[in-house]
Amino acid sequence: MPELPHRPLRDADLADLDRRDPLAPFRRRFRLPEDAIYLDGNSLGPLPTAVPERLNRVIEEEWGRSLIRGWNDHDWIGLPLRVGEKIGRLIGAESGEVVVTDSTSVNLFKLLAAALKARPGRSTVLVEEDGFPTDTYMVQGLLDLVGGHRLRRAPAESLEESLDDDVAVMLVGHVHYRSGALRDLHGLTAAAHRHGALALWDLAHSAGAVPVELAACGVDLAVGCGYKFLNGGPGAPAFLYVARRLQKELTQPLSGWLGHADPFAFEADYRPAPGIARHLCGTPPILSMAALDTACDLLLEADLEALRAKSLELGAIFQRLVQERCAGLGLKLAGPEEPWRRGSQISWRHPKGYAVVRALVERGVIPDFRGPDVIRCGLAPLYLRYTDLGAAVDHLRQTLEEEPWRRPELRNRHGVP
Ligand SMILES: *Cc1c(COP(=O)(O)O)cnc(C)c1O
Repeated sequence: MPELPHRPLRDADLADLDRRDPLAPFRRRFRLPEDAIYLDGNSLGPLPTAVPERLNRVIEEEWGRSLIRGWNDHDWIGLPLRVGEKIGRLIGAESGEVVVTDSTSVNLFKLLAAALKARPGRSTVLVEEDGFPTDTYMVQGLLDLVGGHRLRRAPAESLEESLDDDVAVMLVGHVHYRSGALRDLHGLTAAAHRHGALALWDLAHSAGAVPVELAACGVDLAVGCGYKFLNGGPGAPAFLYVARRLQKELTQPLSGWLGHADPFAFEADYRPAPGIARHLCGTPPILSMAALDTACDLLLEADLEALRAKSLELGAIFQRLVQERCAGLGLKLAGPEEPWRRGSQISWRHPKGYAVVRALVERGVIPDFRGPDVIRCGLAPLYLRYTDLGAAVDHLRQTLEEEPWRRPELRNRHGVP
């Protein structure tokens, strides 16, 4: 990265960074509305230009002409494993360790249940306090069903001290959804292993934006979303990872026919498929899978280290621009100070954060709001420009100066925030 001047950054400095950005050509591969600055690719990734073409082909040619033959002729049946291989390359998994299926919530249920069964005699599930709600909710639903286990919550900083020999599985988000804090994948996994517990990581906010080294870090289990930084589209299927050394031993309770060793033999009893395929349940949504497949191809064209380098730079510059251009306007950084301790997002606290986000969206700057007071900005390095950050921070300053919380129509929460 070029040296940046010590004086306040000017828009020309940002334009200069854009000109030198090796990832700049990727922006054209997305459909992004001209009148919007999109800071929410961590909630719903934008549309890759190759996706409509692919979906058209799947609909018109594959479904339209092949009908049921599409399962073989176009290998629809193989998509969950094929797309899983691609995601595996983005998260440091080895071949045959990832499959695309169901939603993140459902995959959590399956892997948590598999983990409890693999650690009999242990009765605790350890989760990060204040983690993403669905993660804890799924633990609660499962524990209610199986009985005899309990949930233990600990702040992320003291997860390690909260491990003991009663913990069957520890569930942690790799990047905290609200603050953006990046957790220590290697250190916490090793700590869980010292106590004989399994480590289950939620990669919802890291896959596709932060280098993840699942195999190298010895991670046991992981889940993640297809529609966030992977850009698979609204409601895209999720993925799950099981380390190869555990695959034989782990079985999941949603024993649907597509996880059977021989689904089309229509046997009377369930027999789990060998390998990662046993974590499938029912028929995959082919249109959504195809969109995610094409979106993953695009990400795989980029160099992951270059993505991380740009994402760190975007975070550092956003932070600096807010300090320089929004001083005294009530914003406080919500996550760690150092960009390398964050994922690919930066969050700001403001007591009237909800109204501020609504007013920003009216101006075409799209972050999102996470209660009680967080303005969360996703920094997707594939398509965000440094000049976008300058413009977004200028809008943020103007918005704060206008005090939008005085507008009654912006005060009440409605719909998806
Ligand atoms: C977005 C997100 C989810 C979403 O789960 P779904 O089942 O896809 O709705 C789960 N966990 C975390 C940490 C998330 O950020």
